[in-house]
Amino acid sequence: MPLELMDSMDEIQDTRLNSTNSRPDNGRKTNPWTYKPIIPPVYQTTTYETPEPGNAHYEYSRGTNPTRDVLQEALAKLESAKYCITFSSGLGSLTTSMFLIGTGKHVLCCSDVYGGTHRFFAKCAPQMGMDYTFVDGTNTKNWLDVFVLGKTKLVWIESPTNPTMMIIDIENIIKAVKKLDNECLVIVDNTFMTPIFQNPLKLGADIVMHSVTKYINGHSDVIMGCLMTNSVVLHDRLKFYQNALGIIPSPRDCSMVIRSVPTLEVRVKRQAESAMKIAKYLSAKPQVLKVMYPGLESHPQHDLAKKHYSGFGGMISFYLRGKSANESIKFVQAMEHFHIAVSLGCVHSLMEIPSLMTHAAVPEIDRDKLGITDNLLRLSIGLEDVDTLIEDLEVGFRAIDAVEAT
Ligand SMILES: *Cc1c(COP(=O)(O)O)cnc(C)c1O
Repeated sequence: MPLELMDSMDEIQDTRLNSTNSRPDNGRKTNPWTYKPIIPPVYQTTTYETPEPGNAHYEYSRGTNPTRDVLQEALAKLESAKYCITFSSGLGSLTTSMFLIGTGKHVLCCSDVYGGTHRFFAKCAPQMGMDYTFVDGTNTKNWLDVFVLGKTKLVWIESPTNPTMMIIDIENIIKAVKKLDNECLVIVDNTFMTPIFQNPLKLGADIVMHSVTKYINGHSDVIMGCLMTNSVVLHDRLKFYQNALGIIPSPRDCSMVIRSVPTLEVRVKRQAESAMKIAKYLSAKPQVLKVMYPGLESHPQHDLAKKHYSGFGGMISFYLRGKSANESIKFVQAMEHFHIAVSLGCVHSLMEIPSLMTHAAVPEIDRDKLGITDNLLRLSIGLEDVDTLIEDLEVGFRAIDAVEAT
């Protein structure tokens, strides 16, 4: 915990200790704030006694909470950002960021995004008076072609794209967009790469968004989101909206994520190492049509990945040669160590069929255009022994071979 936080709590506590009234005592006579615990306490409190009316460091926990402050500081450090604001979910961060834009404006978003992001722009942004266009984000010209000067005020990028693992040249697009309109905000969803492997603020982004739910928390037990920025103006506005809109995480959830932060780097490096081995294994399987993993030389944008990423992450997508949903279902159901589940980035390995699960809400014609067909599978590699995971996949391939043989 930052020392100044401790000190301010000391002051509040000292005033209270000097009072002699006989209120019900919740064990508050002891002063726990001076013990400097290794794990920051969970400030499970809605309100704070204030010795000086009108001049409280902490007043009400929707606005500020010490546990949340500790986490926000730790997350900002991870992304080398000056500021971080947390929210009750990744989509809560997205919703809040829309208040930076306002009605009558136009949003550009890459077409191949997280299903919930797609749903928000298509179904909710219009209700907030915003227009949207989805763009095949892999070519800078595509963004510029649909940019409406004076109206486009937000560019939303997710790279690598989800679920087809294409890489967007964030740096190049930001340069081009800012040349057209320096006021146009660029937000990058960096959930897949984590702050360990990619830092979009260094590539020129105004704001980085994370679904903290995924790699950063990493243990499948907290839903949370965050926005990070180096701009004090954006930070102050986001802090205002965090309080005004109330899309805040609980102190307990903040504490859970504080627990996860120190292991993030070790986790994702190990996951990326396993993912590389598994991607190579999959590439050699006759039942597999194509593997999309940025670390493979066969990835069409491998060079760009090497330029932007310091590691290639733990997410792999691949197409089975057989085209039917039935075959994909047989494959995933045969597995024991890969859980059939949405979400990603946790210590357990997960496997899903995007067309039936994460991206089922994307209209079928759009899915076909994006290559989200029933034979596409997405893997999130966990921390299990990599050979065990490969054996598990082997069982899946045998299961579909058996179907073909009958
Ligand atoms: C999960 C996810 C989100 C949404 O985050 P929640 O915490 O589930 O609200 C946004 N973007 C990406 C890339 C995600 O994987």
